[in-house]
Amino acid sequence: MIDIQIFLKSGKELSVKRFHPWIFSGAISKINGSPKEGDVVEVFASDGSYLATGHWSPGSIAVRVFSFTQCIPDRNFFTQKIISAYRYRLSTGLADNPSTNVFRLVHGEGDGLPGLIIDIYGNVAVLQAHSAGFWHIRVMLAEIVIEIMKGAVVSVYDKSEGTLPFMANLGAENGYLAETPQGNEAVVLENDFKFKVNWQTGQKTGFFVDQRDNRQLLSKYSRGRTVLNMFGYTGGFSVYAMKNASAVYTVDSSPAATALADENVRLNFGDDTRHKAITSDAFSFLRDMEQDYDLIVLDPPAFAKHQKALSNALQGYHRLNAIALKKIKPGGLLFTFSCSQVVSREDFRKTIFVAAANSGRVVRILHQMSQPPDHPVNIYHPESEYLKGLVLHVE
Ligand code: SAH
Repeated sequence: MIDIQIFLKSGKELSVKRFHPWIFSGAISKINGSPKEGDVVEVFASDGSYLATGHWSPGSIAVRVFSFTQCIPDRNFFTQKIISAYRYRLSTGLADNPSTNVFRLVHGEGDGLPGLIIDIYGNVAVLQAHSAGFWHIRVMLAEIVIEIMKGAVVSVYDKSEGTLPFMANLGAENGYLAETPQGNEAVVLENDFKFKVNWQTGQKTGFFVDQRDNRQLLSKYSRGRTVLNMFGYTGGFSVYAMKNASAVYTVDSSPAATALADENVRLNFGDDTRHKAITSDAFSFLRDMEQDYDLIVLDPPAFAKHQKALSNALQGYHRLNAIALKKIKPGGLLFTFSCSQVVSREDFRKTIFVAAANSGRVVRILHQMSQPPDHPVNIYHPESEYLKGLVLHVE
């Protein structure tokens, strides 16, 4: 029985009826009960008809919807949801794949579970709650993952400390939730390449799982080229490039990242003098570099986390791409990305268009990249399409 009821203003039920999973605080006319952050609430239209069930939060997104049919969100309900996410990964060939044992099992809105991320690293799952609602039931979720993945996953690490809403003040601490702790790092396989991942100290859940397909594409194009991997982090793109390139340079401002990139290249290729990792700020590196590179990767962190930062973010993408487009060798390829959710595909493409026009060079679009199938886009929630990329040929 769910005893907190949220009533929407007249007309505000339309987006919920189109299955958009966010209900904004401005759409609410009346609340029966006094919901606390993370409580389960039911949402009704102004005429009293049921619309949805979700987790309450006091911010501008007041309800994150996980069901559009009336339900009791108990252990069985979430088991069915996670089974459905797991079956989908099995059907796309990502789970149970001898060449790849790192993938995303649950991708928030993309899997109808807004506020929940679960990544798989070999036999460890890393859970990240972005809402109090999922954090409160983290232990149950961990047990469900272990139960349904039958031996493939033996323990679950909670990494929600940095992702829960600050105001919720839940006192979350990262750590293991279920079964035997497996240490904090492992060597995982992605398309048969080895990567050392540390989920305790690494960024996000430890690895940028979402670039798998784009790394594969880069590997193909790197044959015989001199590759510059900017914002390299664990050296994901560098390792794939090493398969075919004549030289690979990884640049990152964090010394821990460049050391890890070096380590990952060594794991796959031994002491190979074709690779060099450089600790430097990307903007100053690009400003000072010569015209030495014929394949450049630009995969910066999200420049905009909120709508308010959009215009500054677009300026950042412009500045970065303008230098790369100016300095890349004739006939070179630029792999350029934005992972900012608030930057639309259209905004990003226009920004690159302006940078290309200013460079005065002939630029062709070879590929338009996105996120892989284990980061599915919910068709009713266009905001879930966050990763955008272009492969450009620059004469
Ligand atoms: N391409 C990576 C992910 C990049 S994450 C992959 O495939 O895994 C973004 C990286 O940019 C982080 O490692 C961060 O340390 C680095 N970074 C952030 N600001 C930077 C700057 N100004 N110059 C260079 N690197 C920066």
